[in-house]
Amino acid sequence: MSYTLTLQCGCTVYVACHPQTRIAHTRVIQGRGTACRTRAHAIGVRLFLWEMLPDPAHRPRPEWVDAFEDIPQAP
Ligand SMILES: [Zn+2]
Repeated sequence: MSYTLTLQCGCTVYVACHPQTRIAHTRVIQGRGTACRTRAHAIGVRLFLWEMLPDPAHRPRPEWVDAFEDIPQAP
């Protein structure tokens, strides 16, 4: 019920969805893009939907995963 997205900056975001409704409720930076210049994109930081609105020129491809455990936690 969860998936990861690669943002246009290269960062990967883990999106956790509600099991029944499948509504995404949590978005966490999972990996930092090497070319990312957004300071707020630190691993473990939660994102809000409006912070990752897609660029029309960039089409993220969801990669579905099962577990939340492999998300690094913020210190
Ligand atoms: Zn980024």
